[in-house]
Amino acid sequence: MENSLFSQASQQLAKPFQYVSLPEETLEMLKYPKASLTVSIPVRMDDGSLQVFQGYRVRYSTVRGPGKGGIRFHPNVTLDEVTSLAFWMTFKCAVVDLPFGGAKGGVTLNPKELSKFELERLSRGYIDAIADFIGPDVDIPAPDVYTNPTIMGWMMDQYSTICRHIVPGAITGKPLAMGGSLGRTEATARGAFNVISTLLPKFDRYPAYTTVAVQGFGNAGAILAELLFQAGYKVVAVSDSKGGIYAPQGLDIPSIRYQKEQSRRVQAVYCDGSVCSIVKHQQISNEQLLELDVDVLIPAALENQITEANAARIQAPFIFEVANGPVAPAADDILEERGIFVIPDILVNAGGVTVSYFEWVQNRAGQYWSEADVNGKLKQKMEGETETVYRLSKEKEISFRTAAYVHALNRLSEAIAARGTRSYYLRAT
Ligand code: NAD
Repeated sequence: MENSLFSQASQQLAKPFQYVSLPEETLEMLKYPKASLTVSIPVRMDDGSLQVFQGYRVRYSTVRGPGKGGIRFHPNVTLDEVTSLAFWMTFKCAVVDLPFGGAKGGVTLNPKELSKFELERLSRGYIDAIADFIGPDVDIPAPDVYTNPTIMGWMMDQYSTICRHIVPGAITGKPLAMGGSLGRTEATARGAFNVISTLLPKFDRYPAYTTVAVQGFGNAGAILAELLFQAGYKVVAVSDSKGGIYAPQGLDIPSIRYQKEQSRRVQAVYCDGSVCSIVKHQQISNEQLLELDVDVLIPAALENQITEANAARIQAPFIFEVANGPVAPAADDILEERGIFVIPDILVNAGGVTVSYFEWVQNRAGQYWSEADVNGKLKQKMEGETETVYRLSKEKEISFRTAAYVHALNRLSEAIAARGTRSYYLRAT
């Protein structure tokens, strides 16, 4: 277990613990997952054969509320990975003050190898297997890598069939027609945009003079690139799994999104009325994109993109982690020594889980909010928590990552201490 992902994840707590004085109960309670479930899911395949898949659900902590976290369908899913992701969710929910603990789920498979019928049977089978472990007051799943609103819809439907009544608040990230929330698709990008536009002016960085490179042009990266473009930032480079494009004069992001939807690849095209013309741009690799001389770098694709191998060559003074874990721990130290600000995933990409929380609230109240309402509430939350993380980092002279963990630990610790501490029980009465 020493080299497991989970042991690495939990070691990340060592630094923030140096800067806060917390009751010993806090560390003890956060050392282990509250409950872990491993299940086998038999699925009848389209060719008549039977295949059994391994699935997991880990509820890491419920000290601040029911567990909350996505479900991942991926060939690399293991109990160790799911436990680490559930651990991170605990801190992410605490950083943005959601009344949730942390959880995560996953099934080990390559969803691209399954037909839609097989995928539906698997999704329903996974819920059959974990139904006693989840619920709107216990642990609420959501989408993650390779799961989407359709899959969440099947899962909520299956959970409701088991319960014999409709339980929309059991799963978030559902299609709108099944109780999903307006603004959920854009939530991660919008939340990240709120963090960026709160922090950069504190360093005298304003949109018109700020160049940006975005790695990953998917749900989070492409929408964020467009929000930044609309706000007047100069987005000079974007990339997807096939490579990237760079134009120092800036890219027209809406037309690139349109082209990407048509051709499934990123190309720099300006559209003027109905006439489109190709803009002069350079083709670059994902590695080159990370090392560009830009003001802001946004990794929005995968984990471990900035490592010991390339950290010394990163030029951007600001990195906003939209992906989960794009900066490896060893690279973090190098970047910190070089004075590069890394704004951590547990704050930057928390917009997604925040609007999942809004969805849960709407489902339970049976009242649905306008998109402007959702976006307004999200903005207020993201800006407020960003201000606190910034203040903590200045006051204690610590990195943004350490400050975000300190902020989350304070909240977790308060909830743990509210149930009694050593000094409470031993105090003379
Ligand atoms: P997505 O699948 O929609 O997009 C991922 C993008 O990354 C795609 O454009 C893909 O082509 C690109 N990509 C894949 N491999 C790449 C590589 N080697 N180099 C560059 N680009 C590559 O996924 P998403 O929902 O946008 O999520 C992206 C990241 O953000 C993930 O780490 C995810 O965990 C994190 N995140 C997403 C959400 C959300 O609500 N979407 C919430 C929290 C965190």
